[in-house]
Amino acid sequence: MDFPKHAYFQGRIVPYSEAKVGVATHALNYGTAVFGGIRGYWNEEKKKLFVFRPMDHYRRFLQSCRLLCMTVEHTPESLTQLTLELLRKDNYQQDIYIRPLAYKSDETIGVRLHDLKDELTIFALPFGLYVKNDTCAHVTVSSWRRIDDNMIPARGKISGAYANSALIKTDAARAGFDEALVLTQDGHLSEGSAMNLLIVRDNVLITPPVTENILEGITRRTVIELAKNELKLTILERPIDRTEIYICDELILTGTAAQVTVATRVDHRPIGNGVMGPVGEGLRKLFEDVVRGNNPKYAHWNVAV
Ligand code: PMP
Repeated sequence: MDFPKHAYFQGRIVPYSEAKVGVATHALNYGTAVFGGIRGYWNEEKKKLFVFRPMDHYRRFLQSCRLLCMTVEHTPESLTQLTLELLRKDNYQQDIYIRPLAYKSDETIGVRLHDLKDELTIFALPFGLYVKNDTCAHVTVSSWRRIDDNMIPARGKISGAYANSALIKTDAARAGFDEALVLTQDGHLSEGSAMNLLIVRDNVLITPPVTENILEGITRRTVIELAKNELKLTILERPIDRTEIYICDELILTGTAAQVTVATRVDHRPIGNGVMGPVGEGLRKLFEDVVRGNNPKYAHWNVAV
């Protein structure tokens, strides 16, 4: 496992080993932090590192901050600039993952959101595949349910809420699956442990709407746009029943870490023909070109370091 080289910490960029917090830190005890996850893609031909859609990631990051009543004196622009500054210092020439984290930094006892200080940290580290079998994943339907908007809002990337994702992921991994899908309290498909989901039925791409306790994924949005513009698919945002994933033609999982992962089996049943389908394959190719800065039409999503 690679360690980050530097971190933005307490207002300046320091060696990663100096970015430390005390064990009484509020966020560590109560999960009162929010984070982001952004990828940087190394383009070997152009000898450039491209950060993918940082402004969109930071817009969502600041929304997550609002949900936890955090004051972070930043804009998406200033956070992007800060990230670029950090990456220039890191000087990575490989694919990376960037983690901004805003956290309640007081070292104190007492559960609340108010009257606490907020701190911002950002670090980046080398990062490859997140889902190993990303063209033939075997997924299960988790026995856990997705947290509801009125419990901990899933549209925020709230650290404490990831205990839900961790329960989902570990049970799936221990049972031999690559990933798990999770249902809402109503029994509709929500998302994976850390990725959104889309299914294909009769050439229509269907994905749960943002009111189904999903994270409003940047990769989901990217894939919807690519499917519409480039594959000329009809996109439907509507609730998905559990049994639709047993009869759909394709199942696709999207996320910054997961990128475009294709699932070919669900609970030991083949999805479609049991191999990667044309929509999944097409989206994977488009996505790889776009994120690596090789598609001029979408170059506005690539921010060069
Ligand atoms: N859902 C959850 C719960 C996640 O943690 C992630 C990863 N950030 C996603 C969906 C995908 O979001 P994005 O495409 O913005 O990374």
